[in-house]
Amino acid sequence: MIFSSKELISLEEKLGAHNYKPLDVVIERGEGVWVWDVEGNRYLDFLAAYSAVNQGHSHPKILKAMVEQAAKLTLTSRAFRNSVLPLFYEKITSISGFSRVLPMNTGAEAVETAIKLARKWGYYVKGVEREKAKILCFENNFHGRTITVISFSSETQYRDGFAPFTPGFELLPYGDISAVENAIDENVVAVLIEPIQGEGGIIIPPPGFFKQLRELCDKNRILLILDEIQSALGRTGKMFAFEHEGIRPDVLILGKALSGGFYPVSVVLAEDEVMNVFKPGDHGSTYGGNPLGAAIAIKALDVLIEEKMVENAAAMGEYIMNKLNEFSSPLIKEIRGRGLWIGIELKPEAGGARKYCEKLMEEGLLCKETHEHTIRLAPPLIIKKEEIDWALDKIFKVLQ
Ligand SMILES: *Cc1c(COP(=O)(O)O)cnc(C)c1O
Repeated sequence: MIFSSKELISLEEKLGAHNYKPLDVVIERGEGVWVWDVEGNRYLDFLAAYSAVNQGHSHPKILKAMVEQAAKLTLTSRAFRNSVLPLFYEKITSISGFSRVLPMNTGAEAVETAIKLARKWGYYVKGVEREKAKILCFENNFHGRTITVISFSSETQYRDGFAPFTPGFELLPYGDISAVENAIDENVVAVLIEPIQGEGGIIIPPPGFFKQLRELCDKNRILLILDEIQSALGRTGKMFAFEHEGIRPDVLILGKALSGGFYPVSVVLAEDEVMNVFKPGDHGSTYGGNPLGAAIAIKALDVLIEEKMVENAAAMGEYIMNKLNEFSSPLIKEIRGRGLWIGIELKPEAGGARKYCEKLMEEGLLCKETHEHTIRLAPPLIIKKEEIDWALDKIFKVLQ
């Protein structure tokens, strides 16, 4: 039996928890930058699953690696070793320049892992008094949805009804170096921050902020933890967003595009001094580091590099920005972006970005609003000029 989009939507609404409000497009198939709904209508994907499909939908080489590995071995748990994980370790440490890696599955789990790591390092290496460790975070952040992670969210809805929260976090204004300076005391073990706030509306910190933050962390022996789950792996036109800032973090968190949309794979990367505080039994995950995820992630990284997707993101990002800056619309307040990660912030009188995303969907372009007034543009990194021109036509039409 074949179901229509309408039938599938009503089934989903009837049976599922209502914790999402998706656009009413029921996607059945994807290839590269394009997806097709159940009725066969074609759409250009300008969200790329929040940067999880940077490599494009169903990349054939990643698919092949997945199928081949799935036929051989999928899961051993970490009770035993598997033959693929070390090769993934070799790949991701050499690309990132870190000496050690810890694999998990989802982004939020990797953030939780980094928090555990920072606290244990704080007690065992830095010598912070037990139970006192503090981690500095920033308003408007997004790091995931677990209880601990929402404990330091500034988004009312993310927290409402979910108390009590995990203590040990302090929220500061994003990009405000003197606020960080004032918040530092002997109990601060880490600063946890996104290099660009994606969910926050593509907010880019002031120039020099990260250099100063790096200096403050060095001076006060504080770990700088970068959540690059969405910003890394080419999105900003560099492999890692921290490269734009001329710094390196002490702890780096990756996820999303690490597996090109095929499978949840996340990692925490750090140097020996930090990662070696974890002893057998301290932390783990049944699926974390499984051979299927490892094989997929290896290939997802390979194609990103071999097919020069990072370079393409830089070039195409510049192309979109130039075109957008030539365009004038009474609805637009500001356009911000780095690489293929662009936010078009609309004026409040435009009445919210959602309805423009709905109109764009009718035009065959899939975008998602973020923070109510911002339309986020984040296509797969393999996008070509002609496809961008096609998308911009639709955007200009809808925002006219
Ligand atoms: C998506 C995201 C997360 C959470 O990842 P999940 O896989 O959804 O748990 C955390 N931090 C950032 C910056 C993200 O974009």
